[in-house]
Amino acid sequence: MKRALVVVDVQNDFCEGGSLAVAGGAEVAHRIGELLHHWTEKLPQAPSYDAAVATRDHHIDPGDHFSKEPDFVDSWPAHCVVGTDGEAFHPNLDPQPFDAVFLKGEHAAAYSGFEGVCAEGTGLADWLRSHEITHLDVCGIATDYCVRATALDAVRNGFETTLLESMCAGVAPESTKAALAEMTDAGVRIS
Ligand SMILES: [Zn+2]
Repeated sequence: MKRALVVVDVQNDFCEGGSLAVAGGAEVAHRIGELLHHWTEKLPQAPSYDAAVATRDHHIDPGDHFSKEPDFVDSWPAHCVVGTDGEAFHPNLDPQPFDAVFLKGEHAAAYSGFEGVCAEGTGLADWLRSHEITHLDVCGIATDYCVRATALDAVRNGFETTLLESMCAGVAPESTKAALAEMTDAGVRIS
């Protein structure tokens, strides 16, 4: 059994001060940074990950994913535009020792990290399989959108999947609650 950490979209635009800020985003970035610190320093409380990867929303022209009058369900204010500071990892996410980063959404909405590709052009599922990963811990922003879609795709792709709930932040309480129930029903373990 090999386990990987999947860090979803911990980017400036999704944290306080960003164009699509999720309350608690900066704190989530800090907590994941601590987890990564424990792992890289092999501290006693460190999780035993065989790899850590990240996903990033990476928009050039994603069509109706962006709107000047967003409904905050299917359309959103412009965010994570390639070449802007909003697209960068939040500085609280420190260190950033990722084995690969998967970019998604250049020309269309892409909520799931499994839609992303890394610098070598490999998708997340193929990358994980080529590294013999069987178990995933998923965390990041936002619980009710990209984290949800990534965790559901993880299960569909056959990975034993755990959501680290304390290291996630959601856009809205109701949709976050619904997403947690949906993930549980799909077989995601909530930790
Ligand atoms: Zn987006």
